[in-house]
Amino acid sequence: MFCKQCGKPIEDGEELCEECKASANTNTTNATQAQNFNTNNSNPNGKSKIAAGLLGIFLGSLGVHNFYLGYTGKAIAQLLISLLSCGFLAFASGIWGLVEGILILTGSINTDANGNPLKD
Ligand SMILES: [Zn+2]
Repeated sequence: MFCKQCGKPIEDGEELCEECKASANTNTTNATQAQNFNTNNSNPNGKSKIAAGLLGIFLGSLGVHNFYLGYTGKAIAQLLISLLSCGFLAFASGIWGLVEGILILTGSINTDANGNPLKD
């Protein structure tokens, strides 16, 4: 195995590169750091998770929650599905929005379109 940072060989079982002290397992370290960043970062401009989730559940067929979060492409798709079918397919985009609303409330969708974490 070789260090991902500096390319020096790392002996099996070593956790850290002796040359640059980079963790041998860079991928998991980065993922953990990104997660901590998201949960610890209280962004004052963050959009409300509750508001986005409820918009998705109640107005998902119009894409309102995606407009709110900045996912404009998805929002327009949901809106057009409902409008162009004269409401016949509103249940389909409504279920789509309902599922996304639940994903937002459960934290599976936890950022807006710009990558800003949602507030609780
Ligand atoms: Zn190294």
